Amino acid sequence: MAEQDDILEIRKSVRHLCDQYGEDYWLQLDRERGYPTEFVRELTSSGFLTVLIPEEYGGAGLGVYEAAAVMEEVCRSGAHAGACHAQMYVMGSVLRHGNEVQKKTYLPAIAAGELRLQSFGVTEPSTGTDTTNLKTFARRDGDEYVINGQKVWISRIEHSDLMILLARTTPREQVSKKTRGLSAFIIDVSAAIGNGLEIRPIESMINHHSCELFFDDLHIPADNLLGEEDEGFRVILDGMNAERILIAAECVGDGRYFIDKASAYARERIVFGRPIGQNQGVQFPIARCYTEVEAASLMVEKAARMFDAGEPCGAEANMAKMLASEASWRAGDVCMQTHGGFAFAKEYHIERKFRETRLYQIAPISTNLILSYLGEHVLDLPRSF
Ligand SMILES: Cc1cc2nc3c(=O)[nH]c(=O)nc-3n(C[C@H](O)[C@H](O)[C@H](O)COP(=O)(O)OP(=O)(O)OC[C@H]3O[C@@H](n4cnc5c(N)ncnc54)[C@H](O)[C@@H]3O)c2cc1C
Repeated sequence: MAEQDDILEIRKSVRHLCDQYGEDYWLQLDRERGYPTEFVRELTSSGFLTVLIPEEYGGAGLGVYEAAAVMEEVCRSGAHAGACHAQMYVMGSVLRHGNEVQKKTYLPAIAAGELRLQSFGVTEPSTGTDTTNLKTFARRDGDEYVINGQKVWISRIEHSDLMILLARTTPREQVSKKTRGLSAFIIDVSAAIGNGLEIRPIESMINHHSCELFFDDLHIPADNLLGEEDEGFRVILDGMNAERILIAAECVGDGRYFIDKASAYARERIVFGRPIGQNQGVQFPIARCYTEVEAASLMVEKAARMFDAGEPCGAEANMAKMLASEASWRAGDVCMQTHGGFAFAKEYHIERKFRETRLYQIAPISTNLILSYLGEHVLDLPRSF
């Protein structure tokens, strides 16, 4: 089925923007562990990073379906969307759960590129995927909350003005359901650093700007509570389906990048007097990956359309993320194999993308947890944990 003209136009424009930042730009940033400040600024000022913000707050007012096309094209161009993707889905929490003052304060400034909301603080070192067991605690004290605890793998905080933080406000033992007693907060990052928040960058396999966070009596205004106290899990959960769909779209972009590269190389590389792509042993794995990426793309589209129609789409968002992250990883592996030894040369860019796309079978949710969600909630199998 052909895509509508408006989506094709979005793809073309994003691709044009990305072309100004070639793969050498991303290679250099990967080497230096640098942040693509100019790229993110331009993606914001051209309106692509804020497509989900409603028009009344200065955004384009489009849906996840359009946002997915943006992220896919960014990744297909060879860029690393991990530098900026969070703004798309994190701001959904402000949009759906923020009060009128919060929406008016933050959304127009985010849309105008004056504020960056790129950081999302959930994961903790001792709780892992068992989110409701998190220990970071926000204690109400008059018109403030006082926060203590620790987070890990919190990405882009050094390049963000705001962070959405999930913390406990009622101990787990005192709530009827473990998802209750958690609250979401908007943290002003620069005001917090040095005043109860310490940040330590993590040296990691990819250039994802992730940090450890240490909270030691961080005081924040009570007005920064997002949604209702003790109901923060809902605030976070709402954004998670959008996050999964958008990351799945990035994986589709990565997959298409690898297939484009593998096919081009297989057509050109001559060994034994003929293009390596003439050998079915080289051709078939690429064709198989193409099939897998196309199939994953259909699930991304289905999940995005359901999300935009306001239909429950937890299963579809999870399936899209799982299928696309596995398809992009296999396409990366085949692209490496097709390039032989040259796959290891950084100037070919494949090994960087190969490392980057590996993340998405683990974050924001690992494949096992998706399978367990489907087993329990879709297939009605006994809950295992
Ligand atoms: C580069 C990077 C960036 C990140 N950015 C952010 C961020 O910005 N904000 C944020 O909050 N977090 C972030 N994360 C954290 C990420 O969301 C978590 O790493 C991820 O959710 C997995 O949690 P974990 O690492 O604690 O794994 P664990 O929960 O310890 O799980 C380890 C393994 O065991 C498996 N497992 C665990 N329990 C079960 C079970 N019951 N059944 C079967 N298998 C199980 C998992 O599937 C996984 O494979 C980031 C992580 C990375 C690596």
